[in-house]
Amino acid sequence: MKLCMPSPLAFTFSLVFLYLFIMIDLHTHTVFSDGELIPFELVRRAEAIGYTAIAITDHMDASNLDLIIPRIVKAIEKLKPHVSIEVLAGAEITHAPTELIADLVKEARQLGAKIVVVHGETIAEPVRKGTNRAAIEAGADILSHPGLISIEDMLRAKEKHVHLEITARRGHAFTNGYIAKEAIRFGVPLCLNTDAHSPSDLITREYARKILLGAGIEESRLDSVFENSTSLVDKVLRRSNA
Ligand SMILES: [Zn+2]
Ligand SMILES: [Zn+2]
Repeated sequence: MKLCMPSPLAFTFSLVFLYLFIMIDLHTHTVFSDGELIPFELVRRAEAIGYTAIAITDHMDASNLDLIIPRIVKAIEKLKPHVSIEVLAGAEITHAPTELIADLVKEARQLGAKIVVVHGETIAEPVRKGTNRAAIEAGADILSHPGLISIEDMLRAKEKHVHLEITARRGHAFTNGYIAKEAIRFGVPLCLNTDAHSPSDLITREYARKILLGAGIEESRLDSVFENSTSLVDKVLRRSNA
């Protein structure tokens, strides 16, 4: 039997394609919290603009973790064989007292959340002081919109390999420049997410690049931010297959 190997040119082209166009978004909302879309439509719209992976991370606290996560998991199981995009169940632990964050992160994982985000100390909302630190200590995957996060917390995030978010969301994005500058200075992993609540919040890879450039990240470093999201998805998938 003759094996049909791709030509070196085709192989290089596919690598370049992956490198330039992968769009991963690990922080989005549906009607299960304050988003506008049901999960199937959110995923379809993301797939249609070229996403390769998405996490559904609705706002949660002790009242609704066990209501929402099993439903998201069920929807993803049904959808998975029919879409070309990786879809991950998740949670965004939101406005929880700092003492409860570790248990909520743990409970979210036990219920099936593959990506656990904690709603960080954005300057746009009265998030409790200490939330950033509690999220990092709890081992969240992503600390979203961490606002004017302290250098001490940044260093702890680096140690615990918690990703700090550069966000496309208005208001929360005011501190992107500070987060990018200090995270790069100290080698803390960054990832770019939309925090989408509406169809129009989903973005292309090209627009994501512009947001990163606008945060003051040099062109030569942009790919490493996208690669962090790819590695996080790989890690999560390995964890779930283990
Ligand atoms: Zn949030
Ligand atoms: Zn959010």
